[in-house]
Amino acid sequence: MSKSLQAIRGMNDILPEQTPLWRYFEGTVARLLDNYGYKQIRMPIVEFTELFKRSIGEVTDIVEKEMYTFEDRNGDSLTLRPEGTAACVRAVLEHGITGGGQVQKLWYIGPMFRHERPQKGRYRQFHQIGLEVFNLDGPDIDAELITMTWRLWGELGIRDAVKLELNSLGTSESRGRYREALVEYLSAHHDKLDEDSQRRLKTNPLRVLDTKNADTQAVLVDAPKMADYLDDESRAHFEGLKARLDAVGIPYVLNPKLVRGLDYYSKTVFEWVTDKLGAQGTVCAGGRYDGLVEQMGGKPTTGVGFAMGIERLVLMLETLEQIPKEISRQVDVYLCAFGEEAELAGLALAERVRDQLPNLRLQVNAGAGSFKSQFKKADKSGALYALILGDDEMAQQVVGFKPLRGQGEQQSIAWDALAAHLATCVVQG
Ligand code: ATP
Ligand code: MG
Repeated sequence: MSKSLQAIRGMNDILPEQTPLWRYFEGTVARLLDNYGYKQIRMPIVEFTELFKRSIGEVTDIVEKEMYTFEDRNGDSLTLRPEGTAACVRAVLEHGITGGGQVQKLWYIGPMFRHERPQKGRYRQFHQIGLEVFNLDGPDIDAELITMTWRLWGELGIRDAVKLELNSLGTSESRGRYREALVEYLSAHHDKLDEDSQRRLKTNPLRVLDTKNADTQAVLVDAPKMADYLDDESRAHFEGLKARLDAVGIPYVLNPKLVRGLDYYSKTVFEWVTDKLGAQGTVCAGGRYDGLVEQMGGKPTTGVGFAMGIERLVLMLETLEQIPKEISRQVDVYLCAFGEEAELAGLALAERVRDQLPNLRLQVNAGAGSFKSQFKKADKSGALYALILGDDEMAQQVVGFKPLRGQGEQQSIAWDALAAHLATCVVQG
């Protein structure tokens, strides 16, 4: 196939054999969020470039080198969203729904775009489920977000494979004081830092804590600790969060080097990490961003949120073989009809059954075919039962009811009794 007719590198098709697992995952999360009282919001995929520069921060990996930015026909600079928080904040401000201290508990789902090096668990179009809460500033809501994800890991059967890492970044004032101390310390060891860290020391020094370079990590061992610079309020907030996690029994590890990639965080930051996916170990990450709304031109409004990477979590389910059996079967009943008259009767019968059992997954054979070929298709569909309409059945106004997975003999069921019979033998999800 010519190159121009292939998908863009790092942007994947999700094929029909994969979508059941995606839908199971997305459905599980959506139900959980509904149950905790969160409401869905949907934002555009494209925004003005300025929005991301202002909210994410000019000297972050995303803004410096990962954005898909282009000029549209009006000459406006637009960007495919690299994350959801910026657009969500823009939306709540634009529609005034966080004004006057109104609490909003929101979630969204959809594709995000970052020009990164594609590899397992890292793509250029990827999907996130994200959540943002506005105007609740206590540790109770931070704890709720984490508790909710903990429940999700439990429901998905991956709880034992993820670990919660926690840190507090303090307020922007206390972080400023810490930044000064860190810069002073690192400047004194400038020669021992890797090149990237030397650059970050000037542009975004906290990101040096995030380095993977062993020499720089060695320098960091004796660096000033963020915890020693926390203001009283942030300290109390962090203690409040830990007490709540302890109360629910959620284990965590404190990671003083957890700073997160984006500029806008304050106080709580957290990541759920796994060692099951190789290098791409973070499956869900978030934190508090109390200054962001104001920075974007709104009234002071606190915020806290997280985003989880759907590709990585789907990979986890596959790797840990936590794929529920039910999701692979998409057909309950397959109707085979032989001859034109039977086909017409079958179509009408199928619609009557669907009226009475709207959740039944009933597939009607299309494309006619011999006895053998229709049975083969019925079997391949994964259906539990085949319904058979041939000359004999037509004459008696019955349908042959044949278990395909070895649950007994074929029997004849009157057309009028079919829906009631199916209701007793097909468990409907
Ligand atoms: P990383 O350190 O892996 O680059 P990040 O800090 O850039 O992650 P966030 O912006 O916090 O990631 O996004 C939240 C989640 O979205 C991540 O924890 C991850 O699960 C997922 N994610 C981020 N970037 C990608 C990507 N390029 N491909 C697939 N999933 C991603
Ligand atoms: Mg990244």
